[in-house]
Amino acid sequence: MDTVKKVDLDWSKLGFSYIKTDKRFIAHWKDGRWDEGRLTEDNKIHIDEGSTAVHYGQQAFEGLKAYQAKDGRVLIFRPDQNAKRLIKSAIDVVMQPVPEDMFIRAVRAVVKANLHWVPPYGTGASFYLRPFLIGVGENMGVRAAPEYLFSVFGAPVGPYFKGGLAPVNFITSERDRAAPHGTGHAKVGGNYGASLLAHHNAKEAGYADCIYLDPLTHTKIEEVGAANFFGITKDGVFVTPKSPSILPSITKYSLMEVAQRYLNMKVEERDVLIDGLDEFAEAGACGTAAVISPIGSITHNGKKHVFGDGQTVGTLTRKLYDTLTGIQYGDIEGPEDWMVEV
Ligand SMILES: *Cc1c(COP(=O)(O)O)cnc(C)c1O
Repeated sequence: MDTVKKVDLDWSKLGFSYIKTDKRFIAHWKDGRWDEGRLTEDNKIHIDEGSTAVHYGQQAFEGLKAYQAKDGRVLIFRPDQNAKRLIKSAIDVVMQPVPEDMFIRAVRAVVKANLHWVPPYGTGASFYLRPFLIGVGENMGVRAAPEYLFSVFGAPVGPYFKGGLAPVNFITSERDRAAPHGTGHAKVGGNYGASLLAHHNAKEAGYADCIYLDPLTHTKIEEVGAANFFGITKDGVFVTPKSPSILPSITKYSLMEVAQRYLNMKVEERDVLIDGLDEFAEAGACGTAAVISPIGSITHNGKKHVFGDGQTVGTLTRKLYDTLTGIQYGDIEGPEDWMVEV
């Protein structure tokens, strides 16, 4: 695989943006069954104007990455977890779920067809995959769609922090991204539409993103933008919020395993009070895009809570990051079945 001739790109300059790669996968569900799906060069989708995805937010998506290892192998991080989550999201908005084996076949096919776009080992870059499932077909009223479209495309992306991990600052939002008993735990576009203004306002005010509090009482941390929150207590316990309106981050659950199995840390999933941040020596946000964004400070009700000196990445945060990314690039042996070779 290391003999694949790569595209001519400055891998070190990559950000997180759309690049049209060569092939994407597309499949349709109609008349009670999924077709085989196929790879295509066409990056435009042609759908019915009445599609429920367009009008009623009937859609869900995923995000995962493939990494090139030192020995040239290309490894996808825990695609089975994304497949399972997409099934749950689909059920939440009454869509036809994509079978797990079809999901895995699709992501592997897309990576394989775009190997020359997969950033070489050592560049800190990776190949981001974006699977999505949408309701399509002729329709007018509010109901589940008569047909579904499943597609996967991908593009090379750079490391989130170009100059290495650096703490960033957040502000709590008065707006909610999800309702207490709504779709917060599903990876559906509706939650994102609902979050764009809060994100925009936080950016305008000079913050990296906003922090969402629990929609019922606004006293507990739920999400950090589109990432999960974790804090590390002064005695080294990894703590992350538990709530039915949080999107279960695969990165977060992976970090919890890394914390326990590789770093001998205790982990806790429980309430994290916005007025109780003093219990933490370090804090971070986690998700596929950045893996970990260290949190320098959180501003809430005009008061700024700073973690450590607000400038230095905490020791355990760095160890968690180095261990998980080491596993993803194949440098460190991961738990069984985490890395799937293309
Ligand atoms: C996707 C997502 C995350 C991160 O999940 P990962 O599986 O770690 O990428 C966190 N919060 C929200 C709202 C998300 O949509």
